Amino acid sequence: MNNFIFLGPPGAGKGSLAVKVAEDYKIPHISTGDIFRANIKNQTPLGVKVKAIIDSGSLVSDDLTCELVKDRLSQPDCKNGYILDGFPRTIPQAEMFTKICDDVKVVNFEIKDEIVIRRLSTRRVCKACGANFNVLTLPPKVEGVCDKCGGELYQRDDDKQESILHRMDVYREQTEPLIKFYRDKGAITDLDASIETDVLLGKFKEIFKK
Ligand code: AMP
Repeated sequence: MNNFIFLGPPGAGKGSLAVKVAEDYKIPHISTGDIFRANIKNQTPLGVKVKAIIDSGSLVSDDLTCELVKDRLSQPDCKNGYILDGFPRTIPQAEMFTKICDDVKVVNFEIKDEIVIRRLSTRRVCKACGANFNVLTLPPKVEGVCDKCGGELYQRDDDKQESILHRMDVYREQTEPLIKFYRDKGAITDLDASIETDVLLGKFKEIFKK
């Protein structure tokens, strides 16, 4: 079964690789961050509740996040596998997830802090479709405009300097312990995430056969 967890600090390129793997393996890319941002954009009760937390770079509560993921994984498109990008992010979330799935491959994105800071501070996201660009490494054809849908590009509030540093601390304190959690279960594969996404995809496909 191709159930994947993409684990790594913000800015490691989990989302960029997940988009390509989802297309190639025909499995859904489930990003809890994207789901929260869609709720914020649509001003749903959940979105209103989580906006300030997300803008600051802190984590949404485990209960809320786990409910959301449980609901998403019960959808029919998940029956042949899925990629979880940004979940689990705490030990309680990982423990909850173990109860709903005991067959998962965890990909650990290894990357240096200085690369993460550079990537995040230069990232731009489409307001309309969520596609990611980078002013240095992946600029859009027209400045400020999404290549895919023509939407407006913006900088996420949590990609501003103060939030980036806070998110890295949160990662180190709350999410990094998951590496040991999954290593002890023998379910983890380390990937050097400093390389370009297409090269990374090639390595991924060598390791994980469809
Ligand atoms: P991301 O797009 O994965 O960087 O997530 C953006 C923000 O959404 C995070 O900084 C958190 O505030 C929130 N978030 C996403 N996934 C989770 C999760 N699994 N647990 C708690 N908060 C989350």
